[in-house]
Amino acid sequence: MEEYLAELNDAQRAPVLQKDGPMIVIAGAGSGKTRVLTYRIAYLMHQGVDSFNILSLTFTNKAAREMKKRIATIVGASEAKNLWMGTFHSIFAKILRFEADKLGYPSNFTIYDTQDSQRLIASIIKEMGLDKDIYKYKQVYSRISSYKNSLITVKAYFQNPELVEADAMAKRPRMGEIYQHYVERCFKAGAMDFDDLLLKTNELLNRYPDVLAKYQNRFRYILVDEYQDTNHSQYLIVRALSDKFQNICVVGDDAQSIYAFRGANINNILNFQRDYDNVQQYRLEQNYRSTKNIVEAANSIIDKNKTKLDKVVWTANDPGPKIIVNRLLTDGDEGRYVASSIFENQMQHQLGNGQFAVLYRTNAQSRAIEDALRKRDIKYRIYGGLSFYQRKEIKDVLAYLRLVINPKDEEALKRVINYPARGIGATTVDKLVVASNHYDRSIFEVIENLDRINLKINSGTKTRLENFMNMIKSFQITNQTSDAFVLAEMVAKKTGLLQELKKDGTPEGIARIENIEELLNGIRDFVEGQKEIDEATGSLAEFLEDVALATDLDQDTGDDDRVALMTIHLAKGLEFPYVYIVGMEEDLFPSGMSMNTRSELEEERRLFYVALTRAEKQAYLTYTQSRYRWGKLVDAEPSRFIEEIDDQYLEYLTPVEGYRYKPLIDADIFGEVDKSKLRLKKPVSGTPPLAHQPTEEQLQKLRKLRPVSNGNTDQPKSDLFDSGLSAGMAVEHMRFGIGKILRLEGVGQDRKAEIQFEKGGIKKLLLRFAKLKVI
Ligand code: ATP
Ligand code: MG
Repeated sequence: MEEYLAELNDAQRAPVLQKDGPMIVIAGAGSGKTRVLTYRIAYLMHQGVDSFNILSLTFTNKAAREMKKRIATIVGASEAKNLWMGTFHSIFAKILRFEADKLGYPSNFTIYDTQDSQRLIASIIKEMGLDKDIYKYKQVYSRISSYKNSLITVKAYFQNPELVEADAMAKRPRMGEIYQHYVERCFKAGAMDFDDLLLKTNELLNRYPDVLAKYQNRFRYILVDEYQDTNHSQYLIVRALSDKFQNICVVGDDAQSIYAFRGANINNILNFQRDYDNVQQYRLEQNYRSTKNIVEAANSIIDKNKTKLDKVVWTANDPGPKIIVNRLLTDGDEGRYVASSIFENQMQHQLGNGQFAVLYRTNAQSRAIEDALRKRDIKYRIYGGLSFYQRKEIKDVLAYLRLVINPKDEEALKRVINYPARGIGATTVDKLVVASNHYDRSIFEVIENLDRINLKINSGTKTRLENFMNMIKSFQITNQTSDAFVLAEMVAKKTGLLQELKKDGTPEGIARIENIEELLNGIRDFVEGQKEIDEATGSLAEFLEDVALATDLDQDTGDDDRVALMTIHLAKGLEFPYVYIVGMEEDLFPSGMSMNTRSELEEERRLFYVALTRAEKQAYLTYTQSRYRWGKLVDAEPSRFIEEIDDQYLEYLTPVEGYRYKPLIDADIFGEVDKSKLRLKKPVSGTPPLAHQPTEEQLQKLRKLRPVSNGNTDQPKSDLFDSGLSAGMAVEHMRFGIGKILRLEGVGQDRKAEIQFEKGGIKKLLLRFAKLKVI
C-alpha cells in the first residue's frame, strides 16, 4: 500500500489519508480527482473498512468499472468485488428492486428509456384529443422530467399555482393532467422512467425511516465523482444517506459544470460546507494530464468566466506544441483535414487510432468527420446518437424479452403486439387501452380476462390476442429453466421477427438481421461472462437492467483501436493524447441557443474548457467559413472562444481575418448564487499552497515523490496476471473446458487470451478472471 500511496502527490494524499468526516476536493481538470477517489477507496479497504460499506457514485458505469479494476490491482479482485460503484441510476435501480414492494412496484419493474417515455406521452396526448403542435411530446417529456428532478410530484404540481400558471401561460393548461396520466400509466405498467429512479429513491428514503437507516448503516463511506453536475434529486439522496456517519467525500470542478441545462446545480458544491459540520476542503493544483500549452490556454479561457471559484492549475509537464487552429472552407474540408492530420500523426509518431478523439458540440457534426475517416480507412467509433440498443430491430427483440419479465410493461406490449403483423389492429389496441384504464389493470391483464370483459371484438381477434398471450406465457416458462441466450434465440425465431426481416431482403433488412445476431452474441457473452465479474448470475432480468442503464460509453469494450467521436458533454472525465475540437464557430459553439444570458454563455465556455482539457499532448481547433445548417449554406464566423485564448498558445495554419464578435446582451448571472460563497475558505494545512508557477524547490520535492513525466501510472508496472502463458499452450478453464491459446494481448489487469476451446468455439477471456490451468 505504501508503494501505491507514493503514486500520489502530497495534496492528493491528504484526502486519501483522512479516513472519516465530510470532505470536498475542488480542483481543476486533470489534477487527479478521480485518482484520489480510486486510491481513497483502496486505502479505506486497506484500513479495514469492509467493501460492503462503501458506495461510490460515478458519471458513467464505464468509469466505475475502470475504478474497480484499478482498486482490484491494489487490494485484490475478490476484495473489490463487493464494492457498490456505478452511476446514480444504476445503483439506485438496484436498491429500488430490493424495496420495490414498499412503493407498490413489482421487483421486476421495467425501466422505460427516453423513447418509451416519449411514446407513452405522445399516446396520452392523442388520447386526450390535444393538439400535438401545441403539446409537443418531446417538450412535454422534458418538462415532466424537470418536475421530477426537482421532486415536484403530481400533487405538488397542482398545489403550486406558479407552475400551473406558467404552463397555462405557455398555452399548455393541461400539462398537469398529462403529467398525472403519465405517472399513472407508468405505475400500472410496472415501469419507472430514468427520473423515477431518483425520485422514487427519494420517496423511499423519506417515507421509510427504517429503510433509510438500513442504507445509512450500510453505506458508511460515500464517494461522489463529478459532484458539480449532480441535480437536486441526486443531491438529496447523497445527503440523506450520508447524514448519519457523515463520511462523505465529494470531488468536482465548478469549471466543468456543464449540465445546468438538465438541472445540475452548482449550489450543491457551494452548499456542501453548510450541510455538514467540519467540512475539510482540499485543493489539487497540479495537472498531470496535459502539456503546459494546453493547461495555460485552458486557464486563460476559464478566466473569462465571472462565476467561478478561485483555483490554480499548473503543470510540470513539457510545454508541448502549440494548439493548432485551422480554418477550412466547408465542413467537408474540415472532415478531410481532421482525417489527414490524424493520418499524418499516426505516420509520424507510430500511433494507433485509439490515441485520437474528435469532439463536437452537436451530434449532427459527426457525419462529415465520419465520411472523411471512412475514405481514409481509419476506424472510428461514434458515441452518443442512436446507440445499438435503440435501433428498431433491437428494441423489438428487447420488447419481447421485457414482456417475459414484466408482462404489464405497456410500451413493450404495444410495440410488439402486432409486430410481426398478426392481425391485431390499432382499433383493437385502442380498445385494450381504454379497458385497461377503465379497470385500472394492465393491458396484459385485460387480455387474460377477455372472457369476463365485453370488449366488442370479434372471435377471430380474440383468438389472436389469446395466441399472443400464450406465446408470451410459454416464453416465461422457458425462462424459468433456460438462460437468457436460449430464450432470446427462441424469441427471435418463434415470434417471426427474423422471418419478417428475411422476407424484406433489402441490404437494410440484412443489416438488421446481423444486428439481431449481434444482440444474441452479446447476450451469450453476458451470460457466460457475467458470473465471473460480479455477484450477478447472468439472468435475463439482469441483462435487461444492464441494457436499460447502458450509457453510450459503456458499450466501449476497449477491445479495438478506434478514433473516438463524441459530443463534448460525453467526453467529461476522459483523456486522449490528441484531441480535435471541430466546428469552432459562432452560433454552433457557443451554441446559438445558449447566448441569451451570460450564465448560458458561461456554461458554453465551461464546455470548451472541458473539451480542451481532454487533450494530453496536442489539441486542434477547426472552423469553417460556411456550413450547411438546417438545410441552408450559411456564413460562419470563428468562435469567440478562439479569440479568448492568449495568442502565445496558438499556431494559426490560416490567417485570421479582422473580425470581432457581437457584444453580449448582459444579464445578471448571480441570480441564485450567493457571491460571498464563491471564494473557497482557506485550504487546510497539509495541502501545500502552490503558486501558479511553483518554485524550483517545490518542484524538486514533487519530483522526488514521483518522477514526473507524461507517464500514466494507472498502468500497472508489472504483468501481475501473466503467469507464464504463451500462444500455443493448452489450458483448462473451469467452465469452458480444454482449449488452446491462440494469442495474448493487453497488459496487466487488461491482459486477455484468445482461446480456441474444444467445445464452445473461440473466446476472449480476461486472465485475471479466467483462472486458467496450464495442462
Ligand atoms: P477531470 O477533471 O478531467 O475529471 P481529474 O481531476 O479527475 O480530471 P484524473 O483523471 O484523476 O484527473 O487524472 C488525470 C491524469 O493524470 C490521469 O491520467 C492520472 O492517471 C494522472 N495522474 C493524476 N495524478 C497523478 C500523479 N500523482 N502522478 C502521476 N499521474 C497522475
Ligand atoms: Mg475525473
